[in-house]
Amino acid sequence: MSVLEHLIRLSCEVGDPAYRLAILGEGNTSGAEGTFFWVKASGHRLHGIGPDGFARCDREALSRAVTSGAAMDDHAVHGLLVSQRGPKPSVEAFMHAWLLGLPGVEFVGHVHGEATLALLCTEMGRDRCRQRFFPDEVVLCGAATLWIPYVDPGLALAREIAARCSSWMEAHGEPPRMIALQNHGTIALGPSPGVVAAALQMAEKAARIVIAALSTGSPLVPLTLTEVNRIAGRKDEHERQATIWSQETPS
Ligand SMILES: [Zn+2]
Repeated sequence: MSVLEHLIRLSCEVGDPAYRLAILGEGNTSGAEGTFFWVKASGHRLHGIGPDGFARCDREALSRAVTSGAAMDDHAVHGLLVSQRGPKPSVEAFMHAWLLGLPGVEFVGHVHGEATLALLCTEMGRDRCRQRFFPDEVVLCGAATLWIPYVDPGLALAREIAARCSSWMEAHGEPPRMIALQNHGTIALGPSPGVVAAALQMAEKAARIVIAALSTGSPLVPLTLTEVNRIAGRKDEHERQATIWSQETPS
Protein backbone atom coordinates (compact mmCIF):
# COMPACT_ATOMS: atom_id res chain seq x y z
CA MET A 1 0.00 0.00 0.00
CA SER A 2 1.33 3.48 -0.88
CA VAL A 3 1.93 6.27 1.66
CA LEU A 4 -1.06 8.14 0.22
CA GLU A 5 -3.31 5.08 0.58
CA HIS A 6 -2.19 4.66 4.20
CA LEU A 7 -2.85 8.36 4.78
CA ILE A 8 -6.35 8.22 3.30
CA ARG A 9 -7.25 5.35 5.64
CA LEU A 10 -5.70 7.09 8.65
CA SER A 11 -7.67 10.26 7.82
CA CYS A 12 -10.97 8.40 7.48
CA GLU A 13 -10.27 6.62 10.78
CA VAL A 14 -9.53 9.69 12.90
CA GLY A 15 -12.23 11.68 11.08
CA ASP A 16 -14.88 9.04 11.91
CA PRO A 17 -17.72 11.01 13.54
CA ALA A 18 -17.97 8.32 16.25
CA TYR A 19 -14.66 9.50 17.74
CA ARG A 20 -15.64 13.21 17.79
CA LEU A 21 -12.10 14.28 16.94
CA ALA A 22 -12.89 16.52 13.95
CA ILE A 23 -15.89 17.89 12.05
CA LEU A 24 -16.22 19.79 8.76
CA GLY A 25 -12.72 20.81 7.57
CA GLU A 26 -11.06 20.40 10.97
CA GLY A 27 -7.78 18.56 11.53
CA ASN A 28 -5.06 17.44 9.17
CA THR A 29 -2.87 14.41 8.54
CA SER A 30 0.41 13.80 6.74
CA GLY A 31 2.78 11.04 5.66
CA ALA A 32 6.41 11.19 4.52
CA GLU A 33 7.48 9.94 1.10
CA GLY A 34 11.19 10.47 0.46
CA THR A 35 11.98 14.18 0.18
CA PHE A 36 8.27 14.92 -0.21
CA PHE A 37 5.24 14.48 2.01
CA TRP A 38 1.52 14.25 1.55
CA VAL A 39 -0.65 16.54 3.68
CA LYS A 40 -4.40 17.18 3.78
CA ALA A 41 -5.52 20.08 1.64
CA SER A 42 -7.02 23.13 3.32
CA GLY A 43 -10.71 22.84 4.18
CA HIS A 44 -11.21 19.19 3.21
CA ARG A 45 -13.18 16.93 5.57
CA LEU A 46 -11.05 14.11 7.03
CA HIS A 47 -13.80 11.48 6.99
CA GLY A 48 -14.44 10.22 3.46
CA ILE A 49 -11.42 12.04 2.01
CA GLY A 50 -9.89 10.73 -1.23
CA PRO A 51 -6.61 11.28 -3.11
CA ASP A 52 -7.76 14.67 -4.42
CA GLY A 53 -7.90 15.91 -0.81
CA PHE A 54 -4.13 15.85 -0.42
CA ALA A 55 -1.26 18.05 -1.58
CA ARG A 56 2.24 16.74 -2.32
CA CYS A 57 4.74 19.09 -0.69
CA ASP A 58 8.49 19.64 -0.67
CA ARG A 59 9.46 18.69 2.89
CA GLU A 60 12.79 20.53 2.82
CA ALA A 61 11.32 23.78 1.49
CA LEU A 62 8.56 23.97 4.09
CA SER A 63 10.80 22.79 6.93
CA ARG A 64 13.37 25.44 5.99
CA ALA A 65 10.70 28.12 6.38
CA VAL A 66 10.23 26.86 9.97
CA THR A 67 13.89 26.67 10.95
CA SER A 68 15.26 29.72 9.11
CA GLY A 69 13.35 32.16 11.29
CA ALA A 70 13.14 34.50 8.30
CA ALA A 71 10.20 36.91 8.41
CA MET A 72 7.33 35.76 6.16
CA ASP A 73 4.10 37.74 5.92
CA ASP A 74 0.75 36.13 5.10
CA HIS A 75 1.28 36.81 1.39
CA ALA A 76 4.65 35.00 1.35
CA VAL A 77 3.23 32.05 3.33
CA HIS A 78 0.32 31.78 0.89
CA GLY A 79 2.73 31.90 -2.06
CA LEU A 80 4.85 29.06 -0.70
CA LEU A 81 1.80 26.92 0.05
CA VAL A 82 0.17 27.34 -3.37
CA SER A 83 3.50 26.59 -5.11
CA GLN A 84 3.22 22.97 -3.88
CA ARG A 85 1.71 20.26 -6.07
CA GLY A 86 -2.05 19.66 -5.98
CA PRO A 87 -4.69 21.56 -4.00
CA LYS A 88 -3.55 24.23 -1.50
CA PRO A 89 -2.18 22.41 1.56
CA SER A 90 -3.38 23.10 5.09
CA VAL A 91 -1.66 26.08 6.72
CA GLU A 92 -0.38 23.51 9.25
CA ALA A 93 1.75 21.96 6.47
CA PHE A 94 4.73 23.77 8.02
CA MET A 95 4.28 21.91 11.31
CA HIS A 96 3.86 18.60 9.46
CA ALA A 97 7.00 19.20 7.36
CA TRP A 98 9.14 19.80 10.44
CA LEU A 99 7.73 16.91 12.50
CA LEU A 100 8.13 14.45 9.61
CA GLY A 101 11.86 15.19 9.70
CA LEU A 102 12.21 13.79 13.24
CA PRO A 103 13.68 10.32 13.82
CA GLY A 104 11.08 7.56 13.65
CA VAL A 105 8.27 9.86 12.49
CA GLU A 106 6.56 8.82 9.23
CA PHE A 107 2.95 9.89 9.94
CA VAL A 108 1.41 12.83 11.81
CA GLY A 109 -2.21 13.47 12.79
CA HIS A 110 -3.70 16.68 14.20
CA VAL A 111 -7.30 16.94 15.49
CA HIS A 112 -9.59 19.12 17.61
CA GLY A 113 -11.15 16.40 19.80
CA GLU A 114 -14.12 17.58 21.85
CA ALA A 115 -13.00 16.40 25.28
CA THR A 116 -9.27 17.07 24.82
CA LEU A 117 -9.98 20.55 23.50
CA ALA A 118 -12.33 21.21 26.41
CA LEU A 119 -9.50 20.54 28.87
CA LEU A 120 -7.04 22.55 26.74
CA CYS A 121 -9.37 25.53 27.17
CA THR A 122 -8.96 25.41 30.97
CA GLU A 123 -6.20 26.35 33.39
CA MET A 124 -5.65 22.65 34.12
CA GLY A 125 -4.67 21.92 30.49
CA ARG A 126 -0.95 22.38 31.05
CA ASP A 127 -0.79 20.22 34.18
CA ARG A 128 -2.78 17.50 32.43
CA CYS A 129 0.10 17.08 29.96
CA ARG A 130 2.36 15.90 32.77
CA GLN A 131 -0.25 13.51 34.22
CA ARG A 132 -1.46 10.04 33.31
CA PHE A 133 -4.53 8.49 34.91
CA PHE A 134 -4.68 4.87 33.71
CA PRO A 135 -2.28 2.33 32.17
CA ASP A 136 -3.53 2.41 28.55
CA GLU A 137 -3.04 6.17 28.45
CA VAL A 138 0.66 5.52 29.16
CA VAL A 139 0.85 2.63 26.68
CA LEU A 140 -0.63 4.52 23.72
CA CYS A 141 0.00 8.22 24.44
CA GLY A 142 3.44 7.96 26.07
CA ALA A 143 4.49 8.86 29.61
CA ALA A 144 3.79 12.58 29.12
CA THR A 145 2.57 15.05 26.49
CA LEU A 146 4.46 18.06 25.15
CA TRP A 147 2.60 21.30 26.01
CA ILE A 148 2.50 24.24 23.59
CA PRO A 149 0.94 27.56 24.73
CA TYR A 150 -1.49 29.21 22.32
CA VAL A 151 0.19 30.48 19.13
CA ASP A 152 -1.34 31.71 15.87
CA PRO A 153 -1.93 28.62 13.64
CA GLY A 154 0.42 28.15 10.69
CA LEU A 155 4.09 29.12 10.44
CA ALA A 156 4.27 30.79 13.89
CA LEU A 157 2.81 27.67 15.52
CA ALA A 158 5.22 25.42 13.60
CA ARG A 159 8.16 27.49 14.87
CA GLU A 160 6.95 27.26 18.48
CA ILE A 161 6.45 23.50 18.15
CA ALA A 162 9.94 23.10 16.65
CA ALA A 163 11.55 25.04 19.52
CA ARG A 164 9.72 23.20 22.29
CA CYS A 165 10.00 19.80 20.63
CA SER A 166 13.78 20.28 20.26
CA SER A 167 14.06 20.99 23.99
CA TRP A 168 11.93 17.92 24.72
CA MET A 169 14.21 15.74 22.60
CA GLU A 170 17.31 17.05 24.39
CA ALA A 171 15.72 16.02 27.69
CA HIS A 172 14.15 12.70 26.60
CA GLY A 173 16.32 11.55 23.70
CA GLU A 174 13.32 10.96 21.43
CA PRO A 175 10.30 12.88 20.09
CA PRO A 176 7.06 13.03 22.12
CA ARG A 177 4.24 10.80 20.94
CA MET A 178 1.62 13.44 21.77
CA ILE A 179 1.67 17.25 21.59
CA ALA A 180 -1.09 19.40 23.13
CA LEU A 181 -1.89 22.86 21.75
CA GLN A 182 -3.54 25.26 24.21
CA ASN A 183 -7.01 26.38 23.03
CA HIS A 184 -6.52 24.42 19.81
CA GLY A 185 -6.11 20.62 19.79
CA THR A 186 -3.69 17.70 19.79
CA ILE A 187 -1.02 16.19 17.53
CA ALA A 188 0.16 12.57 17.44
CA LEU A 189 3.29 11.44 15.63
CA GLY A 190 4.93 8.09 14.99
CA PRO A 191 6.25 5.46 12.63
CA SER A 192 2.88 4.15 11.40
CA PRO A 193 -0.75 5.24 10.88
CA GLY A 194 -1.76 2.82 13.65
CA VAL A 195 0.42 4.54 16.26
CA VAL A 196 -1.04 7.94 15.35
CA ALA A 197 -4.67 6.79 15.28
CA ALA A 198 -4.37 4.92 18.60
CA ALA A 199 -2.73 7.88 20.38
CA LEU A 200 -5.37 10.37 19.22
CA GLN A 201 -8.25 8.08 20.17
CA MET A 202 -6.81 7.19 23.59
CA ALA A 203 -5.98 10.83 24.39
CA GLU A 204 -9.61 11.72 23.69
CA LYS A 205 -10.82 8.89 25.93
CA ALA A 206 -8.42 10.01 28.69
CA ALA A 207 -9.85 13.53 28.49
CA ARG A 208 -13.41 12.17 28.75
CA ILE A 209 -12.34 10.15 31.81
CA VAL A 210 -10.88 13.24 33.49
CA ILE A 211 -13.99 15.31 32.78
CA ALA A 212 -16.19 12.51 34.16
CA ALA A 213 -13.94 12.18 37.23
CA LEU A 214 -14.11 15.93 37.83
CA SER A 215 -17.88 15.76 37.77
CA THR A 216 -17.84 13.52 40.86
CA GLY A 217 -16.46 16.43 42.89
CA SER A 218 -13.74 14.20 44.35
CA PRO A 219 -10.09 15.23 43.81
CA LEU A 220 -8.32 13.67 40.82
CA VAL A 221 -5.75 10.95 41.57
CA PRO A 222 -3.19 10.64 38.74
CA LEU A 223 -0.74 7.73 38.53
CA THR A 224 2.54 8.40 40.32
CA LEU A 225 5.73 8.84 38.27
CA THR A 226 6.90 5.44 39.52
CA GLU A 227 3.66 3.83 38.35
CA VAL A 228 3.86 5.58 34.96
CA ASN A 229 7.48 4.51 34.45
CA ARG A 230 6.63 0.93 35.46
CA ILE A 231 3.90 0.71 32.78
CA ALA A 232 6.10 2.43 30.18
CA GLY A 233 8.88 -0.12 30.77
CA ARG A 234 6.87 -3.36 31.05
CA LYS A 235 7.73 -5.91 28.34
CA ASP A 236 4.22 -7.40 28.29
CA GLU A 237 2.77 -3.91 27.75
CA HIS A 238 5.16 -3.40 24.82
CA GLU A 239 3.90 -6.63 23.25
CA ARG A 240 0.30 -5.57 23.83
CA GLN A 241 1.07 -2.13 22.44
CA ALA A 242 2.44 -3.66 19.21
CA THR A 243 -0.71 -5.75 18.80
CA ILE A 244 -2.97 -2.71 19.33
CA TRP A 245 -0.98 -0.66 16.84
CA SER A 246 -1.17 -3.38 14.19
CA GLN A 247 -4.95 -3.66 14.65
CA GLU A 248 -5.40 0.11 14.68
CA THR A 249 -3.64 0.39 11.32
CA PRO A 250 -6.70 1.13 9.21
CA SER A 251 -7.28 -1.67 6.72
ZN1 LIG B 1 -5.91 22.73 14.18
